[in-house]
Amino acid sequence: MQIILNGPLISSNYYMKDTDILSLTTDDRHRLWQKLYESIETYISNVSEGPVTPELNPEKLRDILSKITFEQATDPVETIDFITKGLSQYQTHTPHPRYFGLFNPAPTTMGIAADAIVAAFNPQLAAWSHSPLAIEIEHHLVRLLAGRFGFNPAEVDGTFTSGGAEANHTAVLTALSNTFPDYGRYGLQSISQKPSLYVSKESHHSFLKAAKNSGLGTDALREIPVNERYETDTILLSQIIQEDKDNGYKPFMIVANAGTTNAGIIDPINEIAQIAERENIWFHVDAAWGGAAALIPELRDLLKGIHRADSLTFDAHKWLSVPMGAGIYITRHKEILTQTFGMATNYMPKEAAGLDVIDPFNHSIQWSRRFIGLKVFLSLMAAGWDGYAKALRHQKKMGDFLRDALIKNGWEVVNNTPLPIVCFVDNEHEDGRSEIFLSLVSRTIVKSGDAWISTTMLNGNKPVLRACITNYKTTEQDVSFLVQKINSVRKNYFR
Ligand SMILES: *Cc1c(COP(=O)(O)O)cnc(C)c1O
Repeated sequence: MQIILNGPLISSNYYMKDTDILSLTTDDRHRLWQKLYESIETYISNVSEGPVTPELNPEKLRDILSKITFEQATDPVETIDFITKGLSQYQTHTPHPRYFGLFNPAPTTMGIAADAIVAAFNPQLAAWSHSPLAIEIEHHLVRLLAGRFGFNPAEVDGTFTSGGAEANHTAVLTALSNTFPDYGRYGLQSISQKPSLYVSKESHHSFLKAAKNSGLGTDALREIPVNERYETDTILLSQIIQEDKDNGYKPFMIVANAGTTNAGIIDPINEIAQIAERENIWFHVDAAWGGAAALIPELRDLLKGIHRADSLTFDAHKWLSVPMGAGIYITRHKEILTQTFGMATNYMPKEAAGLDVIDPFNHSIQWSRRFIGLKVFLSLMAAGWDGYAKALRHQKKMGDFLRDALIKNGWEVVNNTPLPIVCFVDNEHEDGRSEIFLSLVSRTIVKSGDAWISTTMLNGNKPVLRACITNYKTTEQDVSFLVQKINSVRKNYFR
C-alpha cells in the first residue's frame, strides 16, 4: 500500500483564546484523542501487512518538509494524519513481525500507554520531592530486577538511563570514581598511571565511545581477543592485564558480555568475575539484551555469576520490548552513584531534605529527566513475571525454529547460543561464505521490503548473515517465509 503525503491542511486558530493555543480547546482535544487512538490502533493492527522497509530518498522527504514552514497554523487532527501516514511510509518498521533485526522490539502496548501518561503528567525526575511516586517506582523496579539477577535487592542501587550506551558510560564513570577517588576533583591528569579498561573484541562499541568521551582516550580501551566460540578469552585477559600492569597501566574495569550484539554470546561470567576479584578491578556485565534471560526461569543459569558484578547494564527497550529509550544501570555499591554524580546547588528543591531519599539529579548523568521507568512498570504490572516469561519463551522458540530451518536447508549456523539470534553462512557453495554473497542476500531481502535481516563480521573477520527474533508477534510462518526468501536468493545466485 502506497500512502501519499499531502501537505497538511491549513487551519486558522484566530477563534482561539491565547491560553488555548497550546492546550487546544476541549472540543479540539476530543477530536485529537480520537484521531490519535485510531491512528495508533491502525498502525498496530496493520503494520504486518505492509513492507518492512521504506524507500530511502532524502530529496523527496526534504521536498515534502520544505512545504511546512509554520507560517500558518495547521488543524491539529491533520498534523496527526500527516505524521502517522508519514511514519507508516518512511521508516524501517521495527514492530513488524518480519523485522529480524537489531534488538529493536515491537513496543508493548502498556509501554505506549505509559509514555503517553508520562508526557501528559510530565513528572520531573530531577528532585525527589517533585516526583516522589515516580522516583520510588523506579527504585522499586531497580531492586526487583536486581533480585532477578541474583543480587540482594536490599543492597543495590541503580538508575534508569536513555539506553545501554548511557548505562555503560555510567559504568565507566563509576568504575573510575571507585578506583580513583580524586578523579572527580582533579581529573585524569591526577592519576600517575594510565587507566585501562578491558572489553572483548565482540563487546559493544559504546565502551569505545565512553573511553573517547570521558577523557580516557580510546587507547585506554583494551580489546581482548575471543575464542572460537566468540567468548572473551580469559587466559589472554589475565595475561594482558599482567602485561599492562608491568607497562605502567592501571587496570580499573573489566567488562563481561551477557549476550553480544553480534551473536548473543554469553561470556564465562564466573571466570571473568574471578579475575576481576583477584585483581581488585571493577567488574561490569553488559547484559543490555541478553539480561532478559534472567526472566525465563529455565534460562537463568546462562547468566550464572552475574550477581558478582559491581555494575550491570540492562536495556528494557530491547528484549523487554518497552518503547525507547529505557536502559538501566544497576550496582551493588550503594554510595557510588552519589560519589560519582553528586553535587550541591542552591536552586534545586529542598522539601525532601531530612528524608531518607536521593535526588536523581545527584545520582545520574541526566538532570531534568522524564519518567523512564513507567513503561517498564506498567508492562510488568499487566503481564506479571509469568506473562513476560511466556512472551520471551515464545521468542526463544522462534529462534530455535529458525536455527533448525536454516540447518535443514543447508545453511551453517556459526554462533552457539540458546538465545534467539542466529548467525549463518551458506555451507553448500564455494562462495557461500563470502561477504559478497552474504551481503547480496541481505540487500536483496531488505530491498524487497519483505523482511529485514543484516550482515555483520564476527571477530572482525568472519562475514555472516544475522537474524534475530526481536518481536513477540513473530510466528513460524514469518520465520519460514524468511528462510524461503533467502533460499531463493541463493538459488538465483548460484544458478
Ligand atoms: C544495544 C546494546 C548496547 C547499547 O544500548 P543502546 O540502548 O543502544 O544505547 C550496549 N551493549 C549491548 C550488548 C547492546 O546490545
